[in-house]
This record gives sequence, C-alpha cells and structure tokens, in this order.
Amino acid sequence: MLRPLVLYPDPVLAKVSEPVHHIDNSVRELALDMLDTLKTVGGIGIAAPQIGIFRRIVIIDKSLEDLTDDVEKPQDFVFVVNPVITVIDKVKHIENEGCLSVPELRAKVARPRRVAMEGLDLDGKPVRYEGDGYFGACLQHEVDHLDGKLFLDHLSYLKRSMYEKKMKKK
Ligand SMILES: [Zn+2]
Repeated sequence: MLRPLVLYPDPVLAKVSEPVHHIDNSVRELALDMLDTLKTVGGIGIAAPQIGIFRRIVIIDKSLEDLTDDVEKPQDFVFVVNPVITVIDKVKHIENEGCLSVPELRAKVARPRRVAMEGLDLDGKPVRYEGDGYFGACLQHEVDHLDGKLFLDHLSYLKRSMYEKKMKKK
C-alpha cells in the first residue's frame, strides 16, 4: 500500500525511531508499504519514518554495492531491520546526495568513506552490507533517518538557509 511521504520541514523527521523487537506480520506489512512507496515515487532507499512510522527499518538498493564494472544493474531492494553502521574507513568522502523527504535539493555531503550496515532481514536472519562511495553514503543516509537526522543537517548553515528560503517562496 502506497503511503504519503513525510516532507521537510515536518518536525517529525527529527524523531528518533524505536527498535523492532519482534519481526512479525505487522512489521512485514509495514516494510512492504515502504517498498510500494519507494517504487512508486522512485528512489534508491527509504527509511520507515519517511512514511511516518517511527520504527528502525530501512530499504536499500543492493545493486549499488558494486559499481566498479560500470554496468547498470536492475535495482535490488533489500530490507534491513534495526540497522547498525560500523565505520571501516573514517577518511571523509564527498557524495552528491538527495532525499525523498527533501524535495528539489541535491548537495554534497562528507561522510566516512567506507562503512558496513548490519541488521536483520524480514525473516529475522542477520544481514550485512558493506561499501564505499555512493553505496556507503546511502547506507549512512538511511540510518541517519532513524536517528532523526537529514542530509540537510550535514550542510553548512548558509547552504541550509538558502534552501529554506527557496522553499518558502513556493
Ligand atoms: Zn533520505
């Protein structure tokens, strides 16, 4: 089921999401709603709070994990429940990011270069994804949502206020 996206500057996007204690059918249904919404609006990842559910569930596009061969692969969405990020290489790396909840903005964000995401799939089995570059940034971006952070929070005050001004004019 398609759910409406929560858009910036809705203050609920700053809420910290709760861990999932039991992966039951209600969690799976919610995850499928996230997937429907992501596929409908078009994107490479989504976190539950972006549809107004404050649980620690994200969807990432695994096809971005290995971009070395330069071949465009079909999107391969995977669910991660209670994802945790481990930094593997903390050297800062810059990617151009955007967000379904922050319309009409793409901006350069510096984050640790290589990370791993560990959590559970919808069967409760452990999963682990690791990557750098764009994929590494995606992993960190989605977990940020669960902690009430947007990629805007990584930008300078100046860049952020320019965006806020532009959106107010609409
Ligand atoms: Zn986002």
